[in-house]
Amino acid sequence: MEHYQDIREAVAKLCARFPGEYWRALDRDMAYPREFVEALTEAGWLSILIPEEYGGSGLPLSAAAAVLEEIQRAGCNGGACHAQMYTMGTLLRHGSAAQKQRYLPKIATGELRLQAFGVTEPTSGTDTGALKTTARLDGDHFVVKGQKIWTSRAEHSDLMLLLARTTPLTTGMKKTDGLSVLIVDMDEALGNGLTIRPIRTMMNHATTEVFFDDLRVPAENLIGEEGKGFRYILSGMNAERILIASECVGDAKWFIDKASAYAKERHVFGRAIGQNQGIQFPIARAYANMRAAELMVREALALYEAGKNPGAEANMAKMLAADASNEAANVCIQTHGGFGFAEEYDVERKFRETRLYQVAPISTNLILSFLSEHVLGLPRSY
Ligand SMILES: Cc1cc2nc3c(=O)[nH]c(=O)nc-3n(C[C@H](O)[C@H](O)[C@H](O)COP(=O)(O)OP(=O)(O)OC[C@H]3O[C@@H](n4cnc5c(N)ncnc54)[C@H](O)[C@@H]3O)c2cc1C
Repeated sequence: MEHYQDIREAVAKLCARFPGEYWRALDRDMAYPREFVEALTEAGWLSILIPEEYGGSGLPLSAAAAVLEEIQRAGCNGGACHAQMYTMGTLLRHGSAAQKQRYLPKIATGELRLQAFGVTEPTSGTDTGALKTTARLDGDHFVVKGQKIWTSRAEHSDLMLLLARTTPLTTGMKKTDGLSVLIVDMDEALGNGLTIRPIRTMMNHATTEVFFDDLRVPAENLIGEEGKGFRYILSGMNAERILIASECVGDAKWFIDKASAYAKERHVFGRAIGQNQGIQFPIARAYANMRAAELMVREALALYEAGKNPGAEANMAKMLAADASNEAANVCIQTHGGFGFAEEYDVERKFRETRLYQVAPISTNLILSFLSEHVLGLPRSY
């Protein structure tokens, strides 16, 4: 498989313009890394999955994985913009020719940002089929009512992909049926039925809760067929899992490099702390786990690009890579002793940032549950 060394080097070079100080300042104010996202957009990195006919580079998923891995590896945070890579897939695969022509070229140039993805709700959580937001057809508009939570980047996005119930749930109906995907124009919607409220979180992630109060969305903004939205979202999950896993591999590499460098340079009791096996072994173990996760990411990518359905591999890659980055983060703090907690080393910031991937976009338990049921044939637990 192509490793995209040239892309990796170019992304690393761009990221070098956004060092730790940049991220620390944003972190203090919980501000959005606008300049960073603009630089990535201008360089074309956020549109590499968009086909050439719509102004993108038309590269395969492994190229996008290389971009996101390098962003994290450089100490930056792709969480500010990674969703565009996978939400765009729903539009590309299931949107009409007119919708693709209307949105994709502008997404490719950065004129339109498709960063917001409204699926999770406060009361349904992981149980997506139980979501309560409704979109009722009224003439040539859908009228949307309800609430989403954890809608990241909603304040920094021009468009949102929204999953809402268009057919009321009745007995005997599969609860994942009757859901539809709509494209919401955020500028038009704000103040006209859409309210966004930021949520302060342990890391700077620009996440929000959004409220729909009879928001009118043109019926032409429906993606694909009404009622099939859950399937469309599901069809993008493998790509999402693989890309997040690549980010986690990048994070793990950053932590391991940082811990190794510090272990060589910090002297206590008259010698480098890295001379002690108690310091070496956890870093070496974190490295081995990162490499194993990286292999699973590659396996998932290879299957994905061969047109197979790598549901199991994409989920395993996400879980193993999130575990590897979480472990490497912990080892990195431990190696730094007290300095691991000081802002200026960036370790505590990255530690907080990578912790998210144990929970979002899918939590580890749900991955284990998927493997238990769909790979091992164990009884369904929920
Ligand atoms: C910073 C951040 C950004 C996010 N961005 C977005 C976004 O842009 N768009 C969006 O739609 N969502 C987003 N999410 C939501 C995210 O996908 C969910 O938080 C995640 O899927 C878990 O759902 P939940 O929080 O409702 O947890 P719950 O579903 O309430 O689960 C709570 C805990 O119980 C466990 N659990 C639940 N059911 C079972 C079971 N049957 N067996 C075993 N364990 C179980 C879960 O694994 C979890 O650990 C974001 C979340 C965060 C924190």
